[in-house]
This record gives sequence, C-alpha cells and structure tokens, in this order.
Amino acid sequence: MDLKKAIYTRFERYVKIDTQSDEKSPAFPSTKKQLTLARLLAAELRAIGAARVKLDKYGYVTAELPATAKGEFPVIGLLAHMDTSPAASGAGVRPQVHKGWKGGDIVINRKLGVILNEKNCPELAVCRGEDIVTASGDTLLGADNKAGIAVIMAAAEYLLAHPEIARGRLKIGFTPDEEVGQGVKYFDVKAFGADYAYTFDGAVAGEVEDETFNADGVTIKIAGKSVHPGTAKNAMANAARIAADIVSAWPENQLPETTEHREGFIMFTDISGETEKAEISGIVRDHDLKKLKAMERQLEAIAAAARLKYPLAKIELAFKEQYRNMKEVIAKHPAVMGKLLAAVRQAGLQPHVTPVRGGTDGARLSFMGLPTPNVFTGGYNYHGRYEWVSLDGMNKSAQVLVNLAREWAK
Ligand SMILES: [Zn+2]
Repeated sequence: MDLKKAIYTRFERYVKIDTQSDEKSPAFPSTKKQLTLARLLAAELRAIGAARVKLDKYGYVTAELPATAKGEFPVIGLLAHMDTSPAASGAGVRPQVHKGWKGGDIVINRKLGVILNEKNCPELAVCRGEDIVTASGDTLLGADNKAGIAVIMAAAEYLLAHPEIARGRLKIGFTPDEEVGQGVKYFDVKAFGADYAYTFDGAVAGEVEDETFNADGVTIKIAGKSVHPGTAKNAMANAARIAADIVSAWPENQLPETTEHREGFIMFTDISGETEKAEISGIVRDHDLKKLKAMERQLEAIAAAARLKYPLAKIELAFKEQYRNMKEVIAKHPAVMGKLLAAVRQAGLQPHVTPVRGGTDGARLSFMGLPTPNVFTGGYNYHGRYEWVSLDGMNKSAQVLVNLAREWAK
C-alpha cells in the first residue's frame, strides 16, 4: 500500500487554505475561514463515498465508513483538527517537496536564512532518504494538523475502495480550534458514536502518545497599601514589588525553559501591578498529579512567607483545574494502546510511547468518555517557519490507520 501520491495531492490542497484560529475571538469556530476547509472536506467525504457526512453549526465535520466485516466490533473514531496555530502566519502557504533528502541543509528560504538541518532539528535524522515537505520560509506549513487530515482522507478513500479489508465501523471527525484550546468544547461524543478514538496529530514516525500533562491555572491577587513615598516607612505595601518578589522566589529549575521530559513546572504568564494592587497569572503542569499538587503547596508556602514579610498587604492565591492526564482514562482500556502498538509494528516501525508536554483534544475527549490516544503524522517543528513533514512518515501514518481498522475487527 503506497498512498504517498494520494496523500500529497490532498495535503497540498489543504495547506493552501488559511485556517488560522484566533485565541481572542469569542466566536466558535474562532475564525470563519476554518469553515472553508470544513465545507471542502464534507464535499470530499461525500465524493469518496463516506456515509452520514455532516457539517454542523460549530464547524465539526463528521462521517462514517460502514463496516465491511460481519460481527460486532467496537466503533473506532479517527480525528484531526483543521485549524493552524496563531503563532505564525498560515496565509499564502507555498509547500515545497525536498525529494529524497540525503542529509545536509534543507533550504526553506535562502534569502530569509531559513535553513533546516540535523543540527537545528535532530528529529530529522530518522528521515534520511525520505521526501521532506516544508513551507517557503515566511509561513508555517500547517502539517499540524493537515498532515493528519490528509492521512485520514487518503486512508478512508483507500478503505472504501477495498471492501475486502475486513473491519468494523469507522467514524471520522474533523474539528476546529484545537490550537486555541477549544477544539472539542461542543463535540457531541454520544452522537459521534465511537467507542474509542485516535487523534492523528503527533510528531515523527513511530511516536504514539497516551499521556498528557495534568494542568491547573493559578492566580495570585495582591492588595497593597499606597502611601506618599516620602512618608512610607512602615506604612506602605507596594503590591507590584511584592508580586515581583513572589515570582522570583519560585525555583529556577521548575520553569518551562529549564525542564523537559517528565519534569513539571510553573510558568508565570502574566503580571500586572501598581502600588495598590497586583495580579499574577500562571500555569501549573506535571504528568504526575501528586507532583502537581506538591508544586502548588510549594507556591502556597512562598505566598505564606510573603504574607509574613509584608503584613500590610493582602495576598490571595487560587488554583483552577484545566485538564487532566488522559493516561488515567486510557489505562482502563488496555486494548486501545495494545491495538495501536500492534498497528505501528505492522507498519515496520518501533513504537515510541512518549508523554506529551501539553494537552491534546484527546485528553479532553478521554475525560468526556471517549478514550483517545494520539498517533504520529511524520512531522516536526510545528507552529513556525521551520515546520516540516515527511511524506514517507505520512504514508506510514496511513498504514497504521489501515492496520488499526483491521486489528479492531480481530
Ligand atoms: Zn495539532
């Protein structure tokens, strides 16, 4: 099965449509232009013969591939997101294919000095001899997540053309606004009707993910006491300075810029302040919920020390749950990862199970009752001008999808 050509034709068409989402927009989907791709995908799903194709008022595109095998099998969902990150422009994307990369520099844009190689991206190393796709140096590529959409569409077309491949019912779902953290907010898990699902929204070939961070938000509010600076001795509490004191008391080895793999952190994302009042917002992240709570107690201790040091100020601290590690849910359904690992091996790859240092739509879906790990699509450097995807990696991803469909009908 070689779907490289079919995948690329679709991929090229999808990345040329600007679908950037917008975190400041109160609308859903956050930008109307995502619907351009949604409408195209709905039409294409009908064209390849998918059943129950629907584009709903939120911009969710859903469809079904009826079963080819006789018997009762779990219904499997295949998901990808349509939007691209607000971090870089997604308008006027001009994809280029660097055929049979032999190592060395991949010139994305000589003029702008956008050059990709193993030194600035060691993840490339596994792609020697493969066809690498990049943008042209002034936009992101949009492989995150149009690689996933192209993979699902090409594999669906292939499966519909090959009814001799015995499989159960498959559900397809394309969602907006993943990059602004709202992707599955209105997703109707019950109506979707899948028992288990997979997001095709991962990185290099072989990587699968069943773990995300546990995530809380934190707000620290400081009420100060303003007095004329000339007569402020033992009478002033400067909220802005107390805020700076609290932020700098947090250990430097527990920040996003100093941690990796399974190390957690607190990041202070916003600080605003004057003498009378100050506010600090931040995020708390750890794969281990116990460690997350321990970090929160550590920050509480810093606030308690600040209360003693600044008795004239009022310092309040509040945590808010954002999302939880999906492993907690997925581990209760061992077949979900078992079938996936088998499907990856059948594609000739050694699976790498890595924890995501972030959240996924799958994490939210898992807690909404649909256990949803994440599958690679063959790319890297998402959200920027150095983004790339291997066409061979996308092809492997489609193979995994077809293998998965077969595995679930065993
Ligand atoms: Zn993504």
